[in-house]
Amino acid sequence: MTGSTELRDKVVLVTGGSRGIGRAIVLAAADAGARVAFCARSLGPATDEVVAEADRLGGPGSALAVRADVASETDVEALFDAVIDRFDQVDIVVNNAGINRDALLVQTSTVDFDAVIATNLTGAFLVCRRAVQEFLAQGDGGRIVSISSMSQAGATSQAAYAASKGGLLGLTRTIAKEYGHKGVLANVVTVGYVETDLTRDIDATLRRSLVAATPLRRTGRPEEIAAVVRFLASARADYINGAAVRATGGLEEVPT
Ligand code: NDP
Repeated sequence: MTGSTELRDKVVLVTGGSRGIGRAIVLAAADAGARVAFCARSLGPATDEVVAEADRLGGPGSALAVRADVASETDVEALFDAVIDRFDQVDIVVNNAGINRDALLVQTSTVDFDAVIATNLTGAFLVCRRAVQEFLAQGDGGRIVSISSMSQAGATSQAAYAASKGGLLGLTRTIAKEYGHKGVLANVVTVGYVETDLTRDIDATLRRSLVAATPLRRTGRPEEIAAVVRFLASARADYINGAAVRATGGLEEVPT
């Protein structure tokens, strides 16, 4: 069981919680005393393991895994319905689900571009829209934390990914402006380079230059990103709204 009560009485929803950074966010939320739901496009041993570990940290019944593709409006609506059915409320939503299809612009197919935008940006829009509807109906504010990337400023071979992450920043800042007065806070975590399935196939030369350009001279750990999300979700971040908090080890720009 958890020793922390930082997010006690809160319900957290994390998109893409089956592995990588999302898994670490689910576990950090459970460790902070929250009840936590997460989704992935398929359920199986990986999601079972996350539920079991979150239950170990937060207590039996504190975690829920739901199959949902955030690019599908129907799935997102059903996801929120399932969370509210199980936990009666939702207080903190983390847009973490993300994919990449790296290629130079002229080699990027429309299918790949659309797929990246559908998950990383349209998915976040669908999740944010329903989250804010729930927050307003509940009448007690809410938090949205979205996982963005250094690539939001532009990065070679990442036209679709960079466009999606830049869009996420605009979406977040708009929510911060529209609903701040209702106690709904929206922020982005701008992530550097973390070794996960998403970055597994990264070219060895680019990997070396990324690490060399990072003053800490190492990649980030999923738990280090989750710690920032946990902070932004907590009462300690009550005056942070519309911000892009960098967790990059000091990396200023993705090397070309
Ligand atoms: P992983 O590939 O390790 O994990 C991605 C997670 O998202 C999985 O749980 C996956 O589950 C889920 N997912 C993917 N697409 C969808 C979808 N359409 N609907 C629902 N769930 C989905 O990635 P990371 O942990 O590395 O990345 C997490 C976030 O962090 C992403 O937004 C990424 O862009 C961002 N980020 C990562 C960086 C890094 O260096 N790793 C750097 C900067 C940002 P499933 O496949 O089963 O659906």
